[in-house]
Amino acid sequence: MAECLFCQIVGGAIPTTKLYEDDQVIAFDDINPQARVHILVVPKRHVVSLDDTQDSDSTLLGQLMVVCAKVARERAIVESGYRVVANTGRGAGQSVFHLHLHVLGGRSFEWPPG
Ligand code: 5GP
Ligand code: ZN
Repeated sequence: MAECLFCQIVGGAIPTTKLYEDDQVIAFDDINPQARVHILVVPKRHVVSLDDTQDSDSTLLGQLMVVCAKVARERAIVESGYRVVANTGRGAGQSVFHLHLHVLGGRSFEWPPG
């Protein structure tokens, strides 16, 4: 989708430093970090949100989670703990309508989240 921000990042039209890339997934730092470490893990294919997925997306969704664990290890936030978040829908705080997982770490977190 030409007008989608994350499709433009995937396509290279908006430059970003890629922390990870394979044929299905990329990961890069969030532009407005909400923790010392705040990484976005994004499918290359345009998927609007978790609500836009079905059984045939299980491999992609699994790979997104595996990449979250990988980048968390690389950024050394495993020992202190980290959080993986998928804001789904405006009411949950989603502002970019291309599926992404937030990997947040390097600070303490409250539960329940705000
Ligand atoms: P959401 O609110 O949809 O769950 O998360 C969207 C995230 O994308 C936000 O945390 C926001 O800071 C991040 N973001 C928005 N625009 C850009 C951008 O141009 N580059 C990067 N790296 N992150 C962005
Ligand atoms: Zn997109």
